[in-house]
Amino acid sequence: MEDCIFCRIAAGEIPANIVYQDDRIIAFRDINPVSPTHLQIIPRKHIVTVADVSDADLPIIGEMVKVANRLAMSEGVAEKGYRLVINCGKESGQEVPHLHLHLLAGRRLGRMG
Ligand code: AMP
Ligand code: ZN
Repeated sequence: MEDCIFCRIAAGEIPANIVYQDDRIIAFRDINPVSPTHLQIIPRKHIVTVADVSDADLPIIGEMVKVANRLAMSEGVAEKGYRLVINCGKESGQEVPHLHLHLLAGRRLGRMG
């Protein structure tokens, strides 16, 4: 996906503050953080929304959560707590059409919705 900003970050074509990467997952700091720790955990594979995750791709979700949990530890927020968010579609506020898991932490987070 040449015009996908997150594919381009994964390909190294756009700079990002990368905090983790392996052959399937990449994680980087959000460019416009809404909390002191705000990371994006994404699959390298271009999947548009969480609703587009096929049965074959389900393990990717598990890997994203595993990476998020590890990053919460390395960011020093695991004990106090953190929030993992996947927006899906227009009313959720999803802006980037490439599956991403937000890791939010570092302040008391308000109630959802
Ligand atoms: P969402 O609203 O769930 O689609 O979230 C998209 C997130 O991606 C927002 O929090 C943006 O700040 C973040 N974002 C957009 N472009 C970049 C970028 N180039 N590098 C890092 N984060 C980005
Ligand atoms: Zn993409």
